[in-house]
Amino acid sequence: MKVVIVGGVAAGMSCAARLRRLNEQAQIVVFEKGAHVSFANCGLPYHIGGVIVERDDLLVQTPESLRASLNLDVRVLTEVTAIDRAAHLVLVREVRTGRTYTEAYDKLVLAPGARSIRPPLPGLDHPAIFELRTLEDMDRILARVQAGAARAVVMGGYIGIEAAENLRRRGLEVTVLEKMPQLMGPLDPEMAQLLQEELVRHGVHVHTGCGVTGFTDRQGVVVVQAEGGATFEADLVVFALGSLPQAAQAQAAGLTLGTLGGIAVNDQMQTSDPDIYAGGDAVECREFVAGKSTYLPLAGPANRQGRMIADNLCGRESRYRGTQGTSVLQVFDLTVALTGLNEKALRKAGLPYRKVYLSPMGHAGYYPGSAPMRCKLLFSPDGNRILGAQIVGHDGVDKRIDVLATAMRGNLGVWDLEHLELAYAPPYGSAKDAVNMLGFVACNLLRGDVDFWYAEELDSLPLDAVLLDVRGPAEFAAWHLPDATNLPVGKLRAQQDTLDKARPYFVYCKVGLRSYLAYRILKQLGFKVRTLSGGTDVFRTVYPAA
Ligand SMILES: Cc1cc2nc3c(=O)[nH]c(=O)nc-3n(C[C@H](O)[C@H](O)[C@H](O)COP(=O)(O)OP(=O)(O)OC[C@H]3O[C@@H](n4cnc5c(N)ncnc54)[C@H](O)[C@@H]3O)c2cc1C
Repeated sequence: MKVVIVGGVAAGMSCAARLRRLNEQAQIVVFEKGAHVSFANCGLPYHIGGVIVERDDLLVQTPESLRASLNLDVRVLTEVTAIDRAAHLVLVREVRTGRTYTEAYDKLVLAPGARSIRPPLPGLDHPAIFELRTLEDMDRILARVQAGAARAVVMGGYIGIEAAENLRRRGLEVTVLEKMPQLMGPLDPEMAQLLQEELVRHGVHVHTGCGVTGFTDRQGVVVVQAEGGATFEADLVVFALGSLPQAAQAQAAGLTLGTLGGIAVNDQMQTSDPDIYAGGDAVECREFVAGKSTYLPLAGPANRQGRMIADNLCGRESRYRGTQGTSVLQVFDLTVALTGLNEKALRKAGLPYRKVYLSPMGHAGYYPGSAPMRCKLLFSPDGNRILGAQIVGHDGVDKRIDVLATAMRGNLGVWDLEHLELAYAPPYGSAKDAVNMLGFVACNLLRGDVDFWYAEELDSLPLDAVLLDVRGPAEFAAWHLPDATNLPVGKLRAQQDTLDKARPYFVYCKVGLRSYLAYRILKQLGFKVRTLSGGTDVFRTVYPAA
């Protein structure tokens, strides 16, 4: 069997390596149009910031090392320019010499990754505007920094935020421009607000709702023009608006594309041509929660899909089970992580859901170095499915999101989260882990032990509603919801006679714990009551201007 692989990084190289481990006889040719194979593209922003000191540490393998260890025929600086399906050939071009030739295949694997979204903005070809996709992009950005760039403007999601953080680490004045009203679309806005505040805390200027309309040059400096007439001067611009699947060649060869423009594959990663497989950022797949076609370019899916293709090529049936979009991002001292769908996506998909917020400590509060994290859990109204989770915090965020992602993959419901037995010692967690706590709170809601109100309901509360602030007087004096009454939870039992059973009480505190206690007291005393999920901490990120 001769297998030709297009693209020599995540999906392509994962496929090649697995294929060799399963089949010593296969002839495996990998074409990579760039100068490097198997490089750590996810590490690029961190070399810009000097966190990954040595550039060579990003070069995981070379064609020589792959020849020696896996007997792979890896040809870098060689681009596949066309596919002749009828003849089972690919046309290739050597980038350096321009020489072209054909290579025959029995099976073809397409792993060409993604290309950057580049809207037709005037001036986008300015030499100080960079993408961040390859080592060469990274080198160009670093060269600009080393040449004395002092001001950077950054646009983009995950990669843009990572670039912003790392350019700031280098001492640049950094401005992030975002067209949407919030950063990082995969998060819900009140979660993204925490990320924005962290960037600002570290001196990054953030402008949301600020779409870029074009670029001009002023003596080598880029002048970024934004909607509404604002301009921003920059010595370098990182333009990382996101990715589109690299599917043009597949399309030209007559392979079926999906509704989102990615190469369409079945769950064995096979394209519409049974001799051609595809994986990674070039394909669209089934989204795990809603089951719709999705495009989520992430390293984990790409690597797993590459490995599965190799299994399938060797006759081992391996089926892809959908993409959850589990991801994690460092933003200075914060960790931001998510899995599954957010509220916006659930509404769009027409999936009913319930939600809870919780602010547990990353590990035991009495052990040094802990901090609260904000967790948001979305689940089906019957509690049998976890639909999504978002966590923003400091210690232990990544492990909690991974537990929740695993729970989702295992089709556990919130009822099961109550029973998970998770490792605990004070430096690492709490005896009731944050994930258990999410289960407790969600199950309390579904069992009727608590009833929440949410910040976004403020304007639609009943006219006779009483907003009852159960925090201490000093907290109340510092800030409170408009027209709220203060009665600290500790005084509630003694002063219950001051309350009116005919009116509905909407209680709140800082994070939701004291107001939950108040809820339980008032409920058992016969009051109509609901408690603010997530407390004023969530409230102020729903209404950042409040
Ligand atoms: C800066 C950066 C940071 C990232 N950080 C993260 C992260 O933290 N977590 C995460 O999950 N994901 C991250 N990603 C995304 C992740 O890297 C991709 O999802 C993953 O690499 C996709 O793998 P792939 O094999 O499909 O494509 P790639 O890894 O991009 O590889 C495709 C290769 O194919 C080559 N190629 C394309 N066309 C041809 C052709 N015609 N002929 C020959 N070769 C061709 C390209 O040169 C490229 O090297 C990051 C991406 C970038 C750019």
